[in-house]
Amino acid sequence: MKNKLISDLKRNIPSSNVLDTLEERYAYAQDASNIRKIKNLPDAVVFVENTEQVQKVVKLALKYKIPVICRGAGTNVVGACVVEHGGIILNFSKMNKIISINKDNMTAVVEPGVILGDLQHEVEKFGLFYPPDPSNLAVSTIGGSIAQSSGGAKSFKYGTTKDYVIDLKVVTADGEILRTGSNTIKNATGYNLNTLFVGSEGTLGIVVEATLKLIPKPQSKKVLMAYFDTVKEAVQAVNAVIEQRIYPATIDFMDKNAIQTVEKFYPANLLTDKDAALIIEIDGFECSMKYQEDIIVNILKTCNASAIQASHNEDEYNKIWTARRSSMGACAKLKPNVTTDDVIVPRENLEALVLGIRDICKKYNLDVCMVGHVGDGSVHPQIPIDYNDEDEYKRYKLAKSEIYDLTAKLGGILSGEHGIGLEKRPHIDKVVNSTALDYMRKIKKTFDPYNILNPYKIF
Ligand SMILES: Cc1cc2nc3c(=O)[nH]c(=O)nc-3n(C[C@H](O)[C@H](O)[C@H](O)COP(=O)(O)OP(=O)(O)OC[C@H]3O[C@@H](n4cnc5c(N)ncnc54)[C@H](O)[C@@H]3O)c2cc1C
Repeated sequence: MKNKLISDLKRNIPSSNVLDTLEERYAYAQDASNIRKIKNLPDAVVFVENTEQVQKVVKLALKYKIPVICRGAGTNVVGACVVEHGGIILNFSKMNKIISINKDNMTAVVEPGVILGDLQHEVEKFGLFYPPDPSNLAVSTIGGSIAQSSGGAKSFKYGTTKDYVIDLKVVTADGEILRTGSNTIKNATGYNLNTLFVGSEGTLGIVVEATLKLIPKPQSKKVLMAYFDTVKEAVQAVNAVIEQRIYPATIDFMDKNAIQTVEKFYPANLLTDKDAALIIEIDGFECSMKYQEDIIVNILKTCNASAIQASHNEDEYNKIWTARRSSMGACAKLKPNVTTDDVIVPRENLEALVLGIRDICKKYNLDVCMVGHVGDGSVHPQIPIDYNDEDEYKRYKLAKSEIYDLTAKLGGILSGEHGIGLEKRPHIDKVVNSTALDYMRKIKKTFDPYNILNPYKIF
């Protein structure tokens, strides 16, 4: 059956776009979740070039009842494009055109393989802004970020991907075309299929085109890095800034371990003797920048910030953000493997979450570099680990489960922006009730009765 599938694929798609050697299939078996055991390889990897080719592949997958797993840059961290049961990987790197940018409507129409950073760069030429900013925007794609509902540092002020998708062109599980929205900024016309598809991890349909809302690009931006002698003071400062009704673009966080690890591998003059740092970006009209900065600096000093650095030019701005964005790469150098997470709680419980995660990792004798977009309550515990160390892996699994229990107890959820994939699937019932899960399964069945679209992810 596999041979027949491959020859059908090669008859329908230019054969140079169909990969099926063992080495090629192996290269697509993993993603940035760094999953411990690869159970299966894809049967084929297909580089699609247009919607018609996507439709043809889906129709063949339906004929052979074989899974179709979309892949952007493979940088999701939850095993969302790991192939548990074989199947066809749809690679979107050749569908990477920015089709149009409409300055009047403030919208962009793009193919799913467009790199997020490239889109941001292009729309900025028109004085426009696309805020979703997963820390790896230099590689991650529009399709992948829609499927995972990516957020990033700027989601505190500007929201996540779901706030910017106004229409999707989707290939359904039977190879037909569905449109989820319209080319208008508001839409109260029937069910909101945009938000259903955003975050659905490729399980309901395949995005072949997206219409995205853009906003005006802020005139100026500046970043402050404030250091604290305790995590508690840093977390309290987050609330203090917000209570003064100042609305920074980001309020990000690095703990001592993250600061020291970044400084060790990617030196950036960070103050390694401090217990925690906040990275606060302000933006807006040039004339408002000093006013915002003065208020925030005053609040930070009142909250016992022991040092404050500020960017005065683009180089200094980039240096601070590069340090923050390098945290996972730096943490990965501590052990053969690294994992990350994105638990999120209502902000009033942030302190309990951060300190609780520290205690849990200490209890299980695990290292943890903690960063996070703490303005919106989300924390990324990055845990370096050696998967070949059975004992360490066991401790890691127990710690993860306790972190999810703690998050649930604090009124939080398992993912603010990374998604669930395979990795968090066993834990989803800790935060989503069984009736809601039943309805999710019914929705999946309606859109994908033969369970061919990225099966067995999420629940
Ligand atoms: C170092 C690092 C830092 C990160 N920091 C952040 C962060 O701060 N915030 C954040 O939100 N995320 C973060 N991430 C996660 C990651 O960036 C996002 O999940 C990312 O946007 C995924 O994009 P991708 O192109 O790599 O998608 P992939 O990993 O290739 O795919 C992700 C999912 O999208 C599906 N998919 C892909 N294309 C399509 C399509 N056309 N139609 C339907 N489904 C599709 C796949 O099947 C899969 O389920 C980080 C990751 C790394 C490695």
